[in-house]
Amino acid sequence: MEDNLELSFDIPDNVLDEIQHNIEEIIQSFPIPDDNKLDVIKKINFMYSQTKYLSVTDGLTGLYNRRHFECNFEREFLRSERYNGKLSLAMIDIDFFKKINDTYGHGCGDYVLKEIAYLALQTFRKTDMVFRYGGEEFAVILTETDISKAIIPCERLRKNVEEYPFVYGGEAFKVTISVGVCEKDESITSPFELFERTDKALYRAKNSGRNTVKPAD
Ligand code: GH3
Ligand code: MG
Ligand code: MG
Repeated sequence: MEDNLELSFDIPDNVLDEIQHNIEEIIQSFPIPDDNKLDVIKKINFMYSQTKYLSVTDGLTGLYNRRHFECNFEREFLRSERYNGKLSLAMIDIDFFKKINDTYGHGCGDYVLKEIAYLALQTFRKTDMVFRYGGEEFAVILTETDISKAIIPCERLRKNVEEYPFVYGGEAFKVTISVGVCEKDESITSPFELFERTDKALYRAKNSGRNTVKPAD
């Protein structure tokens, strides 16, 4: 299910920062001619940035990956508690995705994932963060956003996907998504609870016929 995430290195951000710090120290004491030092540092910094980029993104869609979601979700949750800010979470799942793979092939499934990732990036605000959570599931963290405002872009994405002219290998077809949305309120005291409530809303969307956005009850 997560075969496309294999490209990501599983190195936490703080460890990567420490590696970079150590590299700079090592370089300073290396017997490299002075006129070459800058080049070496530049190259290592480039490799470091690449490694860091790969560690937080999903190789197929280019979206942030699940590990990056876990870090950011916890941080945004704590931030909203501390500053009393609003926070909503949306979980998106492609409807009958297995059927798309089975009918048109795995390559087509991958194409659909990429297109939907692109549509999601186009739809949500720059301050919202879109992640590939798992196989055909996406998570969106909407900061400073209550449920009524969170539903609007989710509904827009649902509609954009429904209307999008998917074409693969000369075949045109339609795809829909189901979305669950939940706002962090006083009854929710941990990121886990917010995630669970959002996931429940997604299952309500699935159970009520799919191709729909459902808030948590
Ligand atoms: P539902 O509407 O209930 O969500 O049905 P579904 O078919 O979307 O759900 P299900 O969980 O049964 O199937 C998910 C499928 O996603 C199964 C798996 O083969 C496919 N999948 C997961 N990751 C990838 C991927 O990276 N590429 C492709 N092509 N398919 C993937
Ligand atoms: Mg799923
Ligand atoms: Mg699905």
